Amino acid sequence: MRIILLGPPGAGKGTQASRLTAKYGVPSISTGDLFRARVKDPNDPLGQQIKAILDAGTLVPDEITVKMISERIDHDDCKNGFILDGFPRSVSQAEALEKMLKEKNLKLDGVVQIGVDEEKLVERIAGRFSCSGCGEGYHDKFKQPAHANTCDKCHKTGTFVRRADDNEKTVRERMHIYHTQTEPILPYYTERGMLKTVDGMADMDHVTAAIESALEPKNGGAAANSPKKFG
Ligand code: ADP
Ligand code: ADP
Ligand code: ZN
Repeated sequence: MRIILLGPPGAGKGTQASRLTAKYGVPSISTGDLFRARVKDPNDPLGQQIKAILDAGTLVPDEITVKMISERIDHDDCKNGFILDGFPRSVSQAEALEKMLKEKNLKLDGVVQIGVDEEKLVERIAGRFSCSGCGEGYHDKFKQPAHANTCDKCHKTGTFVRRADDNEKTVRERMHIYHTQTEPILPYYTERGMLKTVDGMADMDHVTAAIESALEPKNGGAAANSPKKFG
């Protein structure tokens, strides 16, 4: 299964990607996570260059991003597929992906847009935190750990972190970038008969079920379930 999850910052891409990995037995690949891993290394000059871009909320240049994805999907764990979370983020990246997959003789199974009401995104992003031990995502209101300060998944304590770019100024810039650079991907995939939209305002379990249903072969046509317009 090779799929792309699309949606603005805070839509739930990472949350859904990690749930779908178990179902489909393929890894989720988050460009944001790959970049944040590089930023952590103070001796990596490219990491420090990327840090400045992440802090600003703009896009890392394609030559870095596309190469990173191309190398990542060559790993053994991607032999049965992958879930892309946060890539592509522009039409030029979508074109690069199309070309790359063709060269690797691979085919995309679907592109799922997680549609959300924009006013609610600020609340989602402001309450977001995750476990630095295992990456599990949480929310102050919508997904608290069962025991305060302890990760449900890896059971470590005191590992919760918040992203530096989840501040109001950077979020505003990320939303702007989403509208100007990323949204034009939607018609790109609609034209290719690949885009499906699910209601990302439902609770997490329902969103997962809607994505799974949209990806079933019987729903293989374009916009299998897009009753509502988001944005
Ligand atoms: P993205 O990867 O698209 O930026 P995340 O998956 O990190 O989004 O989700 C943003 C925040 O919203 C997280 O704290 C997550 O726990 C929470 N969240 C995700 N999906 C939902 C949902 N359907 N309802 C409520 N909160 C959600
Ligand atoms: P979110 O989960 O809020 O959508 P991500 O973790 O996906 O955010 O991305 C964080 C930051 O990483 C982005 O604001 C951008 O600076 C950079 N980034 C992520 N994916 C890409 C991409 N495909 N191309 C360029 N920059 C990217
Ligand atoms: Zn953990």
